[in-house]
Amino acid sequence: MGKHRIIAIILTGVMTLVIIFTGREFKDMHADIPIFPSDDLAEVKMLSDYFEGLKNTPGDTQVYVFEGEEEGGSVLILGGTHPNEPSSNLTSILFVENLKVDKGRVFVITESNKSAFTHNDPQEGSPHGYYIETASGQRFFKYGSRATNPIHQWPDPDVYVHASSGQQLSGSETRNLNRAYPGREDGTLTEKVAYGITSLINKEQIDLTIDLHEASPEYPVINAMVAHETSADIASFAILEMQFQSIEIALEMSPKNLHGLSHRELGDFTETYPLLMETANPAQGRLRGATSAELIVEGIDPIYEKAGNAGFLFVKFDENGHPLNERVARHTTGIIEIVKAFNCLNSGKEIIIGGIPGYDDMLQQGIGAYLR
Ligand SMILES: [Zn+2]
Repeated sequence: MGKHRIIAIILTGVMTLVIIFTGREFKDMHADIPIFPSDDLAEVKMLSDYFEGLKNTPGDTQVYVFEGEEEGGSVLILGGTHPNEPSSNLTSILFVENLKVDKGRVFVITESNKSAFTHNDPQEGSPHGYYIETASGQRFFKYGSRATNPIHQWPDPDVYVHASSGQQLSGSETRNLNRAYPGREDGTLTEKVAYGITSLINKEQIDLTIDLHEASPEYPVINAMVAHETSADIASFAILEMQFQSIEIALEMSPKNLHGLSHRELGDFTETYPLLMETANPAQGRLRGATSAELIVEGIDPIYEKAGNAGFLFVKFDENGHPLNERVARHTTGIIEIVKAFNCLNSGKEIIIGGIPGYDDMLQQGIGAYLR
């Protein structure tokens, strides 16, 4: 056997091993992670129950439904619109695993863009996920991409034209769920997911819709609640209550000329009161160092600390960073205060919920204490 043939055989063997290992990791990203709902769960529906067109597609996703004994209003919590914003997905999971509902109905989607949980953004060096310690051991959670997986929706056009407004954005935004609302029955997979969520809101007559997000610390809209005109009263009440608890949060009005976003289109096209919240995720920003599972969970980064001290950021950033505990605590407190504000303004239609830990409890105990 010649020398070249031996080298070729060795290289083929090494390549096969690499393919097996990486292939297994890629395949794992397509599997669901386990979620352990609280005893108050009424049923698990699928988004395709509201829009048939999603059936057997990678866009179909679980809808966790909780119902109180007494009739009241309803709220939809959207986690995982952007799977590279982990406090969003984790807050929605924490709700599913702890929620008690006395009055009204609560709908939770933990992976709103399920396809985007099956891959990472190219050239970001992001890990596939991160770990949280719980009483019964370590649990794994996924860290995905901002956009639908290109193996599920391909190719991107050069220019993305938002269907109902004609707004033009860069082609890759075609796969961004939060530029696709209100969605289209016969559109792309991303537009179909948006259409499914809009259909759920219409069919279940959802009163309140809360879309959870994160942004990099250098992004101006951060530690903020974004409200459609119709939701401004609810947002103002909720923000005042949060500020009384020393949680800094700002009110941003949904721009009327920026289309495809949940807080704009769901307010324009449905009867729901839409709101969106942002927390600060250092693992997402351009200034960060190595993107590790620790950075996602601990939220500590020396360059961000430097930028924060120099006054270049839109949030305070010290040596404690912005840990996931704090970011999830902000979202859970935000949701609770939004629901309370809705109740104040809609007597007779209250949504009475419990079981969710308070802000200080979550900071002291950590999220792991509240995950099953
Ligand atoms: Zn986002």
